[in-house]
Amino acid sequence: SLPQGRKPDWLKVKASFGDNFKDVTKLMEGLELNTVCAQARCPNIYECWETREATFLIGGEDCTRRCGFCQIKTGKPKGYDVDEPRRVAEAVEHLGLRFAVVTMVARDDLDDSGAWLVAETIRQIRTRTPEVGVEVLPSDFGYGHDPMKGAAALEQVVDAEPDVFAFNLETTRRLFPVIRPSFDYDRGLAFLALARERFPQTTAVKSNLIAGMGETDDEILECMRDLQAAGVNTLTIGQYLQPSAQHLHLDRYVTPEAFARFREYGEVELGFDHVESGPMVRSSYHAGQQAIDAKAW
Ligand code: SF4
Ligand code: SF4
Repeated sequence: SLPQGRKPDWLKVKASFGDNFKDVTKLMEGLELNTVCAQARCPNIYECWETREATFLIGGEDCTRRCGFCQIKTGKPKGYDVDEPRRVAEAVEHLGLRFAVVTMVARDDLDDSGAWLVAETIRQIRTRTPEVGVEVLPSDFGYGHDPMKGAAALEQVVDAEPDVFAFNLETTRRLFPVIRPSFDYDRGLAFLALARERFPQTTAVKSNLIAGMGETDDEILECMRDLQAAGVNTLTIGQYLQPSAQHLHLDRYVTPEAFARFREYGEVELGFDHVESGPMVRSSYHAGQQAIDAKAW
């Protein structure tokens, strides 16, 4: 009883695009930068950009991996833009952002899986706008296939000192091999545990889960326990919205009440510093507040 095209009321948002939104769009185009906000047509775009938060997508538009839920194109990356970090920092400054999230396509074609690009973007933002909070959300830097390579790449990002380091598990143990075939559930947890070990305690380590892809509530709770055990202290959980007919089938709409139970379980039972859980939540939604709650920024 979950027909496509009939969204529950709690998922209906008014898309309102103010002047601020238009300014941001123009600036991003001028600097040839990609944001997840616009690219993924995120429903929170107006709210986030009005509150001066945005999520940059670096490393190009083509991802070397394919995850069933993801809108980003899979393909052979075109080039390697070493000037991109500078332009991201310029955009952060010009937009007067207070918190910037930097995510990256998987770049398995590069020796360092794109770690330099992430680290350099942090450094460039720090240089121009030291007061801005920075969260990075890269791939696993190939850790799932080659832990040595992934760990070496991670070190570059550790040295650049982001406020928040995120790696998104996205789905549960049972569904993982089908939905994220080029990642591994246990290696993903091990990568997060390594991040917790390598970053200073003041850096938040964060992850995200997408509900509605075929998992049960109990499986989400299991996943939350696994993430907590890996040392993750900030967690976001949101509803899957099938981007197109070619993407993974939508299994269910999780109710706001169920999302509230996830939050309570995470914060009260498991002791996460912050759990953002709700139908419209994306990993970068209210990212600044999450970082504040985790005392990371
Ligand atoms: Fe952008 Fe994230 Fe906000 Fe969506 S939730 S508009 S992707 S910052
Ligand atoms: Fe999307 Fe990330 Fe998977 Fe690439 S690795 S398909 S960007 S979720």
